[in-house]
Amino acid sequence: MDDLFLFNATILKNRFDLSQTNIHIKNGIIHSVDFDNIDVINAQNTQIVDCEGKTLLTGFADAHLHLFSYSSSLNQLDVSYPKVKNINQILKVISNSIENSPEGTWILCDGFDEMDLDNQLSLDILDNIFKNNPIKINHRSGHACFMNSLAMKRLSISTSSEDYKRGLIDRDDNGNLTGWFFDMNEQISFLLREKNQAKRTEINISNTLEQLIHMGIFYIHDASINNDLEKWNICLEHSSSLQFSPSITLLPGIDHLDEFINRGLYFGYKEKDMMLGHTKIIVSSISGSIYPNLNQLSNQISESHKYGFPVAIHAVTQDEINNTLDALEIVYSNSNHPNKDRIEHFTEATPEIITKAKKLGVNLVVNPSFIYQNGFRYSQRIPKMLQPYTFNYRTLLDSGFNLAIGSDAPYGNLDPLINIQSMVNRKDQLGNIYNGNQAISITESMWLISQGVNQVSANDIISKKPSVGDKANIVILNQNLQNIDHTNVHKLAVDVVIKDGFRILS
Ligand SMILES: [Zn+2]
Repeated sequence: MDDLFLFNATILKNRFDLSQTNIHIKNGIIHSVDFDNIDVINAQNTQIVDCEGKTLLTGFADAHLHLFSYSSSLNQLDVSYPKVKNINQILKVISNSIENSPEGTWILCDGFDEMDLDNQLSLDILDNIFKNNPIKINHRSGHACFMNSLAMKRLSISTSSEDYKRGLIDRDDNGNLTGWFFDMNEQISFLLREKNQAKRTEINISNTLEQLIHMGIFYIHDASINNDLEKWNICLEHSSSLQFSPSITLLPGIDHLDEFINRGLYFGYKEKDMMLGHTKIIVSSISGSIYPNLNQLSNQISESHKYGFPVAIHAVTQDEINNTLDALEIVYSNSNHPNKDRIEHFTEATPEIITKAKKLGVNLVVNPSFIYQNGFRYSQRIPKMLQPYTFNYRTLLDSGFNLAIGSDAPYGNLDPLINIQSMVNRKDQLGNIYNGNQAISITESMWLISQGVNQVSANDIISKKPSVGDKANIVILNQNLQNIDHTNVHKLAVDVVIKDGFRILS
């Protein structure tokens, strides 16, 4: 490994300001850092790289994603709009896949949203055409799926099956299954795994971890509700077997917290490149009533706090967020709180909600790439009156919230540059602008997607700036941020990735 002298790079000083820097990397370690000084050193065996004012970061962070779902989505048929524009095209995608697979193979599809299409998918259509293959079609939100009769039969799901917790098995007026399942992914993937006898390890986590490094993402939080001790061990196995891996914070699911506690593992516990994070709880109103209700939720929060774990609560709608804030208020009124609790998504952030949340001092993890993926859906489906209060990052920052950025991949877009674009130009994939008044600057966006994670972690996991003695973890972009605004943010790209002193991408 050559020693490197990175000269004339632009670095973020804080959320608003930039400065010039030179960095000398020796044996993969940061040997010296000079700010506001552009003298070039003269040393042997040192490659001098003129960064020409381009932006230098200590890596991107993703404060909310789903490693296993993302990895398995890579092997599923993409039936998302606009790739697929009607039901016939979906049937064609499925038929093609069946023709090219062994008989009776499970056909798994992802990204479906029937509201994007002109006609509806029904059990009759699927059952009539595909008699020999079990088929499962995931909704793009990750909160619903559709299965044909053979798939339900294989998983032993029948009219007598019971709903599960916050989930719902959809039935028609006669009590017959319609094929739709809401918020039951955890149970269904468990059944699928049992049937296939496919171990979770077969899902290619390593490829995903390598992909993350190539994108310059060095820090991730996995916020899946089914995170248990087995998943902790699998992640540990994959990340230790790789030469370069992002550091992974695993958020234990509320139903699995005891597995970690019984092992003596605690919030902020570290092993190799892994850390244990907040307890993940989902508040959902998908089944028609809120689950968990106020009482159950405040008990779950207290229980988690009792063992020193702050909570990360999934709450999207006003009802879900209000229920969450009310529960936190109950808990806080009874005891001291760790002050690091976070709310995930926080989509419908009305003025009343903002006031209430600010008073409680919660931190927020938001998902800008949803603007890119779904802007055209939101402008049609979210009531006009509510739209100004959704994805309202300008207001949230001006209200003084700590924000961290999560892609929510595979449901949102994993690419940090897409997340940055969404914050700065507010454009969806079709070029429409969603709630444009809520745009934030490129410097603020870059700060949030690299440093925001520190506010929602057990401790600072990403260094504020390159510091002497650290392993060289550096990402260089193709532009100086001074020259970037909403008109050209889409041109931003990653030029160089240096992980642990090695140039991965250049
Ligand atoms: Zn999520």
